Amino acid sequence: MSVMNTLTLELLFTILQERRVKLQPADAPHTDTSPGDSMASRSEVEFCCSICQEVFRDPVVLSCSHSFCKDCLKSWWKDKEVKECPLCKRRSSRSKPPGNLVLKNLCETFIQKRDQSSSYALCSQHSEKLRLFCLDHQQPVCLVCRDSEKHTEHRFSPIDEAAQQHKKQLQ
Ligand SMILES: [Zn+2]
Ligand SMILES: [Zn+2]
Ligand SMILES: [Zn+2]
Ligand SMILES: [Zn+2]
Repeated sequence: MSVMNTLTLELLFTILQERRVKLQPADAPHTDTSPGDSMASRSEVEFCCSICQEVFRDPVVLSCSHSFCKDCLKSWWKDKEVKECPLCKRRSSRSKPPGNLVLKNLCETFIQKRDQSSSYALCSQHSEKLRLFCLDHQQPVCLVCRDSEKHTEHRFSPIDEAAQQHKKQLQ
């Protein structure tokens, strides 16, 4: 019983921490990360577009070597006469900056890894992602668990939501 609860809490905290990292502005000063910070959270910032704060989609690179999502830069430049880098204000020599294929591939790998490893732990019984939270058992479950006899007529919420709820209760 107590072992299960500890595991559940740890999982929820992992999810909460990831969300917090994501909300951090990318242009925040680079402070030394505390020992508790994982590699994953550090690279999340590296793969973040400073305009939308998300992992790059279709990144393009400017002559100053800063990268942004293609669409983000497009809308950023929409009403501007001078095409300059949103970060360092250096003038871009081209109005159509080339795509950053290397970064694009890195981002895709990063998203895949993040989805596989950190966001969802795997169910020990079914090796499926623990996407749901059984409200009656107060434990994370996978889709196969949900349909199993053990959880007949139980209520579930998405694990993200459960984590948010948990956060609210703590505050
Ligand atoms: Zn963007
Ligand atoms: Zn720049
Ligand atoms: Zn399962
Ligand atoms: Zn249940």
